Amino acid sequence: MRRRDFILQSALGGAAIFSGARTIAQAGPLLAAQRPSASPVAGGRGAVPLAPPDAQPPKLKIPEPSPRKIGWAIVGLGKLALENVLPAFGECKISQPVALVSGHADKARQVAKVYGIDSDAIYNYENFERLAENKRVDVVYIILPNSMHAEFTIRGCKAGKHVLCEKPMAVTVEESERMIVAAKEANRKLAIGYRLLHEPFNRRVIELCRKKEFGEIKTFSASNCQDVKAPNIRLSARLGGGPLGDVGVYCINAARYVIGEEPVEVSAFAHQPKDDPRFREVPESVAFIMRYPSGVLASCDCSFGTSESRKYRVHCAEGYIDLDPAFSYTGLRLHTKSGNAETDDTQRTELVLEPQNHFALEMDDFSGCILQNKETRTPGEMGLADMRIMAAIEEAIRSREPVHLGS
Ligand code: NAD
Repeated sequence: MRRRDFILQSALGGAAIFSGARTIAQAGPLLAAQRPSASPVAGGRGAVPLAPPDAQPPKLKIPEPSPRKIGWAIVGLGKLALENVLPAFGECKISQPVALVSGHADKARQVAKVYGIDSDAIYNYENFERLAENKRVDVVYIILPNSMHAEFTIRGCKAGKHVLCEKPMAVTVEESERMIVAAKEANRKLAIGYRLLHEPFNRRVIELCRKKEFGEIKTFSASNCQDVKAPNIRLSARLGGGPLGDVGVYCINAARYVIGEEPVEVSAFAHQPKDDPRFREVPESVAFIMRYPSGVLASCDCSFGTSESRKYRVHCAEGYIDLDPAFSYTGLRLHTKSGNAETDDTQRTELVLEPQNHFALEMDDFSGCILQNKETRTPGEMGLADMRIMAAIEEAIRSREPVHLGS
């Protein structure tokens, strides 16, 4: 890339925007030149029909019938569901909310009214199986505490529904395996809520890495940290909390899609302070290193007791790629640097892409997979692979020894 280059590219390719603009500019004079040979105007030089001949305006854009929309049941009406997922349906093209599952009937009724959901399409955790009778529901989206993911995914499959389950897939490897079996037995699709695999910034990083734009990847470093205030499901061991599954999983998943390999060994440490009552049950921080077959090393940290940092760097032989923030819902920023002069900032380039709603992209992508019977980009098997890595990290923390993965 050239010095001080500033590349403006939309998710669809900036070139398209600019070449489109040129086409319009060129079209003006061309049309003007053609005018004399068009039908002569009134006033002695011939006549044009003044009223439209078939009594309707010319060139009407008649709306096409909308494609079939996939019906979604939202299971759990907590922070993510209310603040992010339900509002995102407004930006979906082929997904709509048609049912709610909640332990709080009053809240569910209020939410149903806002989203135009029938009051008889409100369920609770006990009568969840009645979803099977609701033919408008194609997918159940599990947005419950991690300890409930496996149970409600399996019950959803048994009710004949496809399932999108939030990350982390579950609490144990064994639960994750049972979820995959349940989806197979019911012949339903199972996807895990890895929204970043649908959004343009992370996808551009994947593209740069696959093309080896900056040479071979040597190291990857990621940090996903925040300050979690009590009470919060994330601080409860019984509900499957802890920083590794909640935020560390983003680092593990990003390492996979950036490096394109599975780790073969992990080392890890955790810290659980005795003087902070928030961390009675789960660690405050976890740091881990993953080693990959090609020799790439990934070092990651996640914490519930720090100011926010949600970023990664891909360090390559001839430059680096920074996504900071990388894991947030909005405001992602992508910089690259070529060359190896540490202080030469002139080689630093920002790739500006058009941001999109991660949840809308994720839901429409899964709806599309259902409509076209395609494989999802984020299947249960991907969630299981991350669960196996997290289990190895936990084992490394317990044993204070590196742990080997795979065969
Ligand atoms: P939350 O605490 O705000 O919501 C949890 C929901 O589960 C609430 O509606 C609560 O009433 C319900 N619930 C049912 N039984 C419960 C029980 N026994 N104890 C506590 N709550 C119970 O949590 P959240 O932040 O919305 O997270 C929910 C899930 O979404 C988690 O799995 C989390 O990892 C995931 N999440 C994903 C993203 C993402 O970007 N993909 C972001 C945030 C959360």
